[in-house]
Order: sequence, then C-alpha cells, then structure tokens
Amino acid sequence: MDSLKPFMDRFKAGVFDILAHSMSGEISIRSWYRQLSNLLKDHFDVEETFYLYKEGDGLYEYIEKKPGRPIGGQWLLERIGNEPYMIMDRDEWMLKKGDILIPCYERAELMGFIAVRTLPEAGWVKDPVMISVLACDTSVLYQNVRRMLVTATERKRYHELFEVTEAFNSHMNVSEVLAKIIHSLENTFPYYTFTLILSDDQGVEKGLPIEYIDYQTSNEALMHAFVSSEITIDEQEDHSSMYSPLKGKQGVYGLLKTEGSINKALKNHEIEFIKVLSTTAGNALENAKLYEQSRQLIDDLKLINDLSHELNANLNLNEMMGYLANQIKKALKPDQTGFVWVEGEEWKTVEGSSAFFDTDEGKVYIENVKQQLFDGTDAVYMSDCDLEAGYRSLIAVPMIHHKQLKGFCVVLHKDSYAFSFEMYKLFKSIVHHSALALVNAMLRVEMQEMINRDHMTGLYARHYLDQFVEESIKRDEKGVFILIDIDNFKKVNDTYGHQVGDQVIIQLAGQLRLLEKENSVGARWGGEELALYFSNMSLKEGVALTEKLRQSVQEMTDPSVTISCGVANWNRSKPDLMINLVRRADVALYQAKNSGKNQVVWLNGDAEKLDHPKVKIN
Ligand code: GH3
Ligand code: MG
Ligand code: MG
Repeated sequence: MDSLKPFMDRFKAGVFDILAHSMSGEISIRSWYRQLSNLLKDHFDVEETFYLYKEGDGLYEYIEKKPGRPIGGQWLLERIGNEPYMIMDRDEWMLKKGDILIPCYERAELMGFIAVRTLPEAGWVKDPVMISVLACDTSVLYQNVRRMLVTATERKRYHELFEVTEAFNSHMNVSEVLAKIIHSLENTFPYYTFTLILSDDQGVEKGLPIEYIDYQTSNEALMHAFVSSEITIDEQEDHSSMYSPLKGKQGVYGLLKTEGSINKALKNHEIEFIKVLSTTAGNALENAKLYEQSRQLIDDLKLINDLSHELNANLNLNEMMGYLANQIKKALKPDQTGFVWVEGEEWKTVEGSSAFFDTDEGKVYIENVKQQLFDGTDAVYMSDCDLEAGYRSLIAVPMIHHKQLKGFCVVLHKDSYAFSFEMYKLFKSIVHHSALALVNAMLRVEMQEMINRDHMTGLYARHYLDQFVEESIKRDEKGVFILIDIDNFKKVNDTYGHQVGDQVIIQLAGQLRLLEKENSVGARWGGEELALYFSNMSLKEGVALTEKLRQSVQEMTDPSVTISCGVANWNRSKPDLMINLVRRADVALYQAKNSGKNQVVWLNGDAEKLDHPKVKIN
C-alpha cells in the first residue's frame, strides 16, 4: 500500500495539471481526454484508452474530430454502476477482457466511461484500492471538466445571442440581422445545417441560405410549423429536421430549418437557443417589413401633399396635367398614362396623356373603362386583362365632382400584376386629391371661354380680339386686320324681322369660323359688324382671303346679304399700335361703303397719310 503512495500522488498531480490546464485554456473534450490518456500511458503502464459516451440509449466511441461511432452496448450499461468495473468474460468491439472501465458521472447521471487497457507490467491493477482511487480522481476530473465545458458553451452561446440582439437593435437592415443569426447558429452548432425558409421575397439579399415556401410541394412538418407557428421536428431514419417559425408580433414570416444526423438529436437547450434566434429573426423581418411599409406610406403621403400643394398653386390646366402625369409616372412607373375628360357627349384625352390613347388600340382601353364606370364601378383594377394591345395591368379611377362623372385617369403596364394593391390605393388617392383642383381648373377654362366668346355667334368677344392682336403685334412679324359690316342690314331687320336678322348674323359668323385657325381670331365687333385678324399674314393674302369671304357670304346667307370689308395690315419694318391698325381698317370700310358697298377695300400699312389712304384693287 505504502509503495503505491508516490504512484497515487503522481496520478493526483497529473489530474490536477489537467484541471489547471483546462481552466486556463480553451476547454474541449478532445484536449482533456488526450491529456488524461497521455498521463495514463506515460506513467501508469497503460497500453490504450477509449472514451465511450452515452447518448440517448446508445453508447458511442469518441473519435477525435469525427462523429462518435455507435456501438450499442446495452449489456455494458447494465453492468456499470458507481464503481470501476473490469471486463472479465468477453471481448467485444475494441474492448477486451481485463479492460478497466471507469464510470463518468455528471450530477448522478452516467455520461459514459473511460476504458483503460493496461500493459502486463502494470502492477497497480492488482490493487483494488489503487483502482478505486484512480477511478475516483478520474471521475472528479471528468465532472469538473464537464462543468467547465457546459459553462464555456453557455457563455459562448450567450455571447452569440448578445451579438445577435445587439445587431438587431443597432440596424434595421434585415439582411444583416439574418446573416448574423445564421452565422451565430453555424458557429454554435457546427454539426447542423441551417436554412431560412421565407414565405415571400422579403427583399433579403442573396448570399444567405434562403429558400421560399412552395405551398404545393412543401412537406408536412414544414407546413405544420408554418400554419400552427409551433416548432415541428421531422425525424427521418438517419436525419432530423427542425422547423422553427420566424415569428413576429403580427405573423409568421417563414421558418428556420435546422438539419442534422440523428445521433446528434436536438437537445432541449439547443432547441431553446434556436427558438430564441428564430424569434429574433422573425422580429427582424417584421420590423424590416413595417419599416418598409411606413417609409412607403410617408413617401405616399408626401407625394399626395406635394400634389395637393402644387395643384392648388394657381397652375393652369396644362401645367397641372403635366405635373400630375409626372407624379403618377414616378409613383407607379406605368407604360401609358391617360387623362380622359367628359365634354358633353364626347370623351377627350387631354394634355399629359400618352399619345397611345389617341390610337385605335388606345381607344379600346378607354371604351372598356368607360363601360365599366358607366356600370357603376367606383374604380377599375385589372391585373391580367386580355385586351388586344397587350397591356395586362390597368388601373382607372374616375374623377367625380358633385356626383357627376367628369372624367377618369388611367394607367397601363405591359406586365401582368405590375401594380400592387398599395399602388392602386395610392393612385386612387392621387386622383381623388387632384379631382377637385382639376375640375376647378376645367371650369375655369370653360368659364374663361364663355367670357371670351360672344354668346349669339360663338365668335370671340371683342376684348379677346383686342388682347390677341396686341400680343401678336408684340410677338409676330406681320398681321392683317379686317372689319366687316353687313350692307343695308337695317332693311333685313325691317323686312324679315329681328330674329331673321339674328340668323343672318349667325350665318355670317359661321363663314368666319370656317376661317379660324391657330393664328387667327374671328370676333363680333359690335351689332352687325364683325372682325377678323390673322397674324403672320401679308396684306395680299389677307385681301384675297377677304375677297373670297365676301363672295361666299353672298351665296351662303339666307336671305342673301352682302358685306363691305375694310382691310388693314402691319409689319415689323414699321411697328404700329393696334389703335392705328383698327382706324385704318375702319377708314377702309368707310371707303367701301361709300364706293357702293359689297366690296373689299384695303389700306397699305406703309401709306404715309390717312387722308389719302385708299388703294383699291379690282
Ligand atoms: P349699311 O349698309 O350702311 O351698313 O346700312 P345698315 O342698315 O346695315 O346700317 P345701320 O348702321 O344704319 O344699321 C344697322 C342695323 O343693324 C341697326 C340695328 O338695328 C341692326 N342690328 C345691330 N345689331 C343687331 C343684332 O344683333 N340683331 C339684329 N337683328 N339687328 C341688329
Ligand atoms: Mg353697321
Ligand atoms: Mg351695316
């Protein structure tokens, strides 16, 4: 016994070294087991050691850097108690008769044993006390190492958890949070593989292990986890998968799939850890989504606000339509944008609309929308329509004022499902917010037109002509002004009555309107006197045109009347005032009346004196 004292001390010292070593360095099963094995081999005549550990009901042989080798071992487990045990009766697997098994406990639970095979010269084997001391010290070492291992693993895990939470709280970038989560999981559980299975494209960057739920082919466990939002484990023969829901406060955004081989069956604390991380991932996805939504909402509100502001800022109708078209293009990125306005019986596309809507193909879309709006639809939203020109997506929103349909706005896109429901709501908002401003602008245009026009003849009123001529004199190169007076009109009134007289004036006005072009204005000058102005027209052209008019009036009026016309012109070489131009036309008209009526008289704008103005051709 005494002779063994140094022997025992040496072992204790060795064990103490291992313990001290474990405390100061990186702790692992590999290092403590290797050190224990070396201690036994170097100083205690040990030929070989094995570490067998328990997992579930089975025994596994520990092999460095490899998954444990399953060896069954029920018979052995039944024989092992608290005491060291020597195999006496059989050789099995790598174990042989004479091997000493030292049980390893963790909190009274048998975790496995160290098998020690001694060389023939190992005398201590014969001493049961020595074996018992060796077993006891080994067991204490094992317990301490295990405890340290658990603490280290937990520390590592909480460190990972802390980092993930920190990442989650420090930035809103969902891809970064998910990358961090996957990284932590892979770090903590290198023997599992992790995949994020998302319910839809959440704008997560590529480079992460991501799959999307395929509702048709996805397996049962996956669907169960998704639908019930509970952790679901799918155990196959040599393989198990765990699906943990990526759950936020408002819903489930996908699943975290953990896969591994069955001998590493997921343990409770692992499940807990994975659950915490998948919840963090769920919250990250939810936050990103909410953040994205709120940003979109702010953008939309800003757009609507800017729009209302702009439209109410005294823009004219064309500017308004241009601005509106621009905003719609920015927000919805349509291929075609159209504004259709009701004018009496007619539906007209207005400024800001794509030219497409004036083509026959475009009109098909307008007709289609019109029909649906007439049928009482409050807005048209089609994601996969099959009209000929091939625009699959369509949104149309009516503009209603005082319960009256004033028109509608329409957008088209070649792709189906190009406009999301959010875009549809935004478009509705845009149109509703602009409708009042647009209708007001339209009414303003209509009212201005009414003010500018003479009610009876439909010709422009005199003030409009004045303005037009004055602007033209400032802007253009030349122009012709014509005053027209019906000959002996009093007689028409006297003969046929005032109403017929009116009709004759209207007929004459009709002839003038035929001449209306962009560069001209026909106006009622007063009573039965009418006026015409052509910008950028020479005197010669003006006289010829007036002469034609004179002839046609005689033919087209009923009762037939004749007219006398005074023509005056101006040109840039000799700037003039409108008042002079009118005066010259008036003088010419006077000349026409005095020279027998039914004729055209003109004054050359270059004539020096008005006293001798008349230069008459024909
Ligand atoms: P002249 O060839 O010299 O122009 O003879 P006139 O009879 O046309 O000339 P006058 O100026 O004497 O008469 C113009 C008449 O036109 C007087 C007025 O009753 C009539 N008149 C003016 N405005 C209207 C109108 O809006 N409707 C009708 N029916 N008659 C009008
Ligand atoms: Mg007159
Ligand atoms: Mg007259």
